[in-house]
Amino acid sequence: MILHLKASVDANRASEIAAELKAAHVILPGGHVLVTSAKVKSVDSHYDQYIQESFVMESDIQLASRKYLGETRTIHLGDGLTLGGSSHNTVFMTGPCSVESKEQITQAAELCVSLGVKVLRGGCYKPRTSPYTFQGLGLEGLMLLVEMREKYGLKIISEVRDFSHVDEVIEHVDVIQIGAKAMYDHGILKACGKARKPVLLKRGFGSTLQEFVQAAEFILSGGNEQVILCERGIRTFETKTRFTLDLCGVAYLKEYTNLPIVLDPSHAMGYRYGVADLSRACTAMGVDGLLIEAHPNPNVAKSDADQQLDFPALRALHATLGPIATAVGRNFV
Ligand code: PEP
Ligand code: MN
Repeated sequence: MILHLKASVDANRASEIAAELKAAHVILPGGHVLVTSAKVKSVDSHYDQYIQESFVMESDIQLASRKYLGETRTIHLGDGLTLGGSSHNTVFMTGPCSVESKEQITQAAELCVSLGVKVLRGGCYKPRTSPYTFQGLGLEGLMLLVEMREKYGLKIISEVRDFSHVDEVIEHVDVIQIGAKAMYDHGILKACGKARKPVLLKRGFGSTLQEFVQAAEFILSGGNEQVILCERGIRTFETKTRFTLDLCGVAYLKEYTNLPIVLDPSHAMGYRYGVADLSRACTAMGVDGLLIEAHPNPNVAKSDADQQLDFPALRALHATLGPIATAVGRNFV
């Protein structure tokens, strides 16, 4: 159950009521919001004096539910660039899997500039499957991304692997990415709930849609309203492709949640050859953004070499997406 408290209820009283109801206390610019378990369908009438509005919810998809907020949330990426809400933007985000060197990330940034792409991605803390492979440049990589932002005016997105560097990532990036393997990390989720920057939360590849959105609820209930969901493929019985991009799940999320949705066909496919077609399919679904890996020389990439597009392929793909976005009422940004 979601309870909007009256503007006259001060922070102390709101905390007391939250404790009495065993509710999460969300402090938003608009006032105090309490969220109880969805199993709670009513509260004692003596609380009526404090309550402005209440919402009875079916499941613990609550703050993220369309039943609570009918409009998709607007995410502010900075300098007037928005994703979700009434913008109807499909925001194209690209860059390498990992930031590897100044030369490599500069080439990726220049590719973005030449295409008019506004968001540069690059991982610096890589959640690798093997401990014997490249683990990312860490803070040095983040500083290279910051340099690219300063030099080229791009927005930067980079992922958090574990709690040890969550503050570093929050401080420096424009969009905080929580990777699929970190989707259940409550330390990261809670730290991102306190952040006041957009968070792109990737779906764990073994997670149901319910679990995925509940992870987003940890961030929302921490008071951060800027959450983007990212479908990046789930594990199924199929092994010919790396994962299976769950487009049915995307339709569900669009219907039942108020969070903008970004699609990552690169990680779902795992191989270069399918990424362009999948990107077109995702764009046709009218999603809020795409996250696509590209590398100046994918064959020598230090992570995800098989799936990253080279720059000519990325350019060719980019050229095909605008008309598809337009056909489904979207602005391709
Ligand atoms: C990535 O974006 O490079 C990445 C590691 O993605 P995921 O968390 O989806 O595996
Ligand atoms: Mn990757």
